[in-house]
Amino acid sequence: MDRWIFCEKDHVHWGSQGGAGLLLRFVPPNGQPVYLLQQRAYSVDHGGTWGMPGGAIQAGESPEMAARREAEEEIGPLPPIRVASIEVQECGGGWKFYVVSANVDREFRAFCVRETEATGWFTREEMKSLRLHPDFAQWIQDHALHRA
Ligand SMILES: [Zn+2]
Repeated sequence: MDRWIFCEKDHVHWGSQGGAGLLLRFVPPNGQPVYLLQQRAYSVDHGGTWGMPGGAIQAGESPEMAARREAEEEIGPLPPIRVASIEVQECGGGWKFYVVSANVDREFRAFCVRETEATGWFTREEMKSLRLHPDFAQWIQDHALHRA
């Protein structure tokens, strides 16, 4: 079962095995890459902020499996995806969040199935006007998204 845990820095984290998120990218033939983001439901922590779909890794799951499962539970069925990289964001106290970056062939329609207020495709520039989840804001600050 998923549960809240304390890491060595006494942060509270959701997921005893760590967490994973799915960052999907579509690169149009003539244009800026766009990323699929999810606005978190107001009922969950950091409600109303934008980030990538994701959640707790369950026992026996790889980060990629967890990221796909959580994304499908939250925003509906995914088209074929091509995983480009899996990077770890560590909180400083031993808890890990895996960012699974993947490419898709089109801006498919995502739904609000669970824990999701809205979804949308955004360029890096457009993200600047969104209220981002703090961990996601940190991640995009640390990474040049266009390299992903
Ligand atoms: Zn922590």
